[in-house]
Amino acid sequence: MFSPGEAFFEDVGPKVHADFEPLIAEAGIEVAVAQTLERIEDDAVVFADDERWDSALTIVIPPYRGHPAVVASEGLGDEQGFVPTDTTMRHLDFPEVFAAGDGSAWAKPKLGRLAVHQAEIAAAAIRREVTGTGEVPAWQPEVFCITNRGGGRATLILSDWLWGGERDLTFSSPLARLMEWGFDEYSFHTRGHLPPEAAQEALKKLFA
Ligand SMILES: Cc1cc2nc3c(=O)[nH]c(=O)nc-3n(C[C@H](O)[C@H](O)[C@H](O)COP(=O)(O)OP(=O)(O)OC[C@H]3O[C@@H](n4cnc5c(N)ncnc54)[C@H](O)[C@@H]3O)c2cc1C
Repeated sequence: MFSPGEAFFEDVGPKVHADFEPLIAEAGIEVAVAQTLERIEDDAVVFADDERWDSALTIVIPPYRGHPAVVASEGLGDEQGFVPTDTTMRHLDFPEVFAAGDGSAWAKPKLGRLAVHQAEIAAAAIRREVTGTGEVPAWQPEVFCITNRGGGRATLILSDWLWGGERDLTFSSPLARLMEWGFDEYSFHTRGHLPPEAAQEALKKLFA
């Protein structure tokens, strides 16, 4: 696994790194940072410093950029085509425009967890404007993901370190695998819905 960045998984803090890196090593995965890709060949990747790695299957995540419709619009997006908003997800220049999810400039890193949080904020802000009721939740971003490590093992990662918070933890357990399975199944059978509120509240209590 390689990254052009100075650190791998730079969105989480030292505690997650300390817990997670041994698991990556245990899985036989080597991580190289500051490796800039020069070209991809049939059976190899070649880096800017001419280092060459054999590769049977190369998967590359390109730099993020905004949706073409935003890029093509006048003044809706920033230089990369992401929509700049305040913390109620309202556009900085066009108050009738809201943005949530990967297309928003606040969504760094690009995470479903942030997309859902932003959508809740945007919906509450619109409701408040239209009906004058309800509170707009505060913007409290966090990284939340469950890595399925195979063989019934999984690691949950929860961290708000990137935004100056103190939560930076991993949870490696069959329970994490069960949670990931439950989330996937629920989402699949409800065509993309999040687990019910009660399950989300239980999760919050578990991590409190
Ligand atoms: C492999 C992978 C693993 C991930 N793991 C995690 C994780 O563990 N935790 C986490 O928090 N996040 C994770 N993410 C990120 C997460 O999936 C995204 O951040 C999230 O889906 C963003 O939601 P969104 O609604 O902004 O965009 P999307 O989910 O991309 O939804 C955009 C929708 O717009 C539709 N669309 C596009 N163009 C048009 C058009 N012109 N007209 C109409 N519709 C259009 C698309 O079809 C799509 O349905 C992962 C992503 C990937 C790819």
